[in-house]
Amino acid sequence: MVECSICHKKIDEKLALVNTDKNGEKKVICQECFKQETGVDYSTFAYRKENAKQIAIAVIICLAMTVYAFCEKGLLYGILGIILTILIYFFAGKIK
Ligand SMILES: [Zn+2]
Repeated sequence: MVECSICHKKIDEKLALVNTDKNGEKKVICQECFKQETGVDYSTFAYRKENAKQIAIAVIICLAMTVYAFCEKGLLYGILGIILTILIYFFAGKIK
């Protein structure tokens, strides 16, 4: 068990969050205090982080496919791949 440095509540180590404050000091805080400090619910924050990771993976896959298409099928397919990648990036950004 660890203690939240803001509300001093005992929290499970698995649920404890490490937050770096304005002075660059690392603090162990609970999820409720995280919400108060950042104004974002931790589950929302985790969801956004996960979402950003998935978008990055999708874009990387598209880029790899673009390079493959460009090498195998020629310039036209390469350009189509780039357009598709940009579209995915653009729409993924809109969903957030
Ligand atoms: Zn707390």
